[in-house]
This record gives sequence, C-alpha cells and structure tokens, in this order.
Amino acid sequence: MRIRLDKYIASMGYASRSEVKELARAGRIQVNGTVAKKSDIKLSTDTDEVLLDGTPIVYQEFQYFMLNKPAGVVSARSDAFDKTVVDLIEGFHRTDLFPVGRLDKDTVGLLLITNDGQLAHRLLAPNKHVDKQYFVRLELPVNETDVQAFAQGIDIGDDALTLPAVLRLVPEDEHCAYVTLHEGRFHQVKRMFEARGNSVVYLKRVSMGSLVLDETLQEGQSRPLTTEELALLMQRF
Ligand code: URA
Repeated sequence: MRIRLDKYIASMGYASRSEVKELARAGRIQVNGTVAKKSDIKLSTDTDEVLLDGTPIVYQEFQYFMLNKPAGVVSARSDAFDKTVVDLIEGFHRTDLFPVGRLDKDTVGLLLITNDGQLAHRLLAPNKHVDKQYFVRLELPVNETDVQAFAQGIDIGDDALTLPAVLRLVPEDEHCAYVTLHEGRFHQVKRMFEARGNSVVYLKRVSMGSLVLDETLQEGQSRPLTTEELALLMQRF
C-alpha cells in the first residue's frame, strides 16, 4: 500500500500529522537512509524503511491486542470522564484501535482491542454465535436447577428467551460457576442470574471463541496477539 509519510507515522501513534511536518522539517525523519524534509511524500508500507530519530517505525495496517480489563474502566474508544480500555494499551500503537464488544465497567477479563473492523464485525455478528465464557461469583449458591434453567433458556425480559447456555458449577465453591453464552445481550450474565433470584458479585470473561485470556497478564495489562492466536481467530470465518 502507498500512503503519505505523515499518515504513515501518525497512524502508528508517533505524532500528529502536523507534528510530522515539523519533524520532517527538522530533519528527524529518514526514508530508506535519506533525510525526508517533506511529510507529503508517498511511500510503500511494505518496502520502504522509515526512521524517526533513528528508530524504525514499522507500519502495521491492523493491530490486535489482548487486554485483561480491570474494573473501573469503560469499554469504549474514548470517554469524557472515565479511563477507557484503549487508554490501557501501552507504547506506540495505531490511533484507530477500539474494543471488540463491551464488558461492563465492573467486569474484568478478556477483551480484544483492534482496528480490524471486519474481524470485529464477524466476532460480534449474532448469527455467528461466537462462544463467550465467563467466570462468575454469586451472592447466593448456584445449583443443578440453575444449570437446567440456563440450558433451557431464561426469560430476562426480552422478546425471546436467552439461547441455551452452559452453566458449569465449581465443586469446591458453590458460589462460583463458569457460564458459556452463544450470544451477547446487554448485561446478559447479570440479568440471567437476576432472573434466577441471584446476584453477580464478580464477573470475569475468560474466553471469546478460540481466544483464551492469558492468565499471566495482570489486570490492566495487555499484549499483542500471537500469530497462532490470530490465525485461530481468523480460521473460524
Ligand atoms: N454479561 C454481563 O452481565 N456483563 C458483562 O460485562 C458481560 C456479560
């Protein structure tokens, strides 16, 4: 792909386009070993080599990060009041990142952050039924009757019952369970337990399709997806 030098550097989050103009004037940018004094020159994202103050800037059309979302941040690109999940992605990165789907402000765990709209759309499309698994801690004990209710579908006040969901009890702790959903309605896990007369006190997403939360990530930490993780996610479509 051929793009302008200012777009190349700005989309990777190093500077705004007007700042790139200044950087170029100041002789701080090199393209293929030659100082680039103008920021509107066109270059190839595949073959040209760009250095800013001697540091290579590698252009990536798409980026994919796994975030272990902490409580207290919102699943949005930007927010006037709260810190967002995109604010938590460290280092230089694309400026057009967004979260794939939403977790409630108090929910923690797996969130995919990318600028790949097509992948996001496929992962979220209702007809694709991408599984999402959550670990949940509840105010009251959960039991086999809840397991059966989840399997049958629950009336949470929408037009239709929830799709059959898998509730797996944790033998060591009757207040904990794993829930696997094949759809993604607003506050769905919380509303399903509320419909059962219970209440969620802690909710953590552990997987989405083939993507599993890397438990070595502390809450608030992120890392790029591995090639294998990305290939598996793409494979599905
Ligand atoms: N279900 C919920 O209730 N909240 C979330 O954040 C995700 C699923």
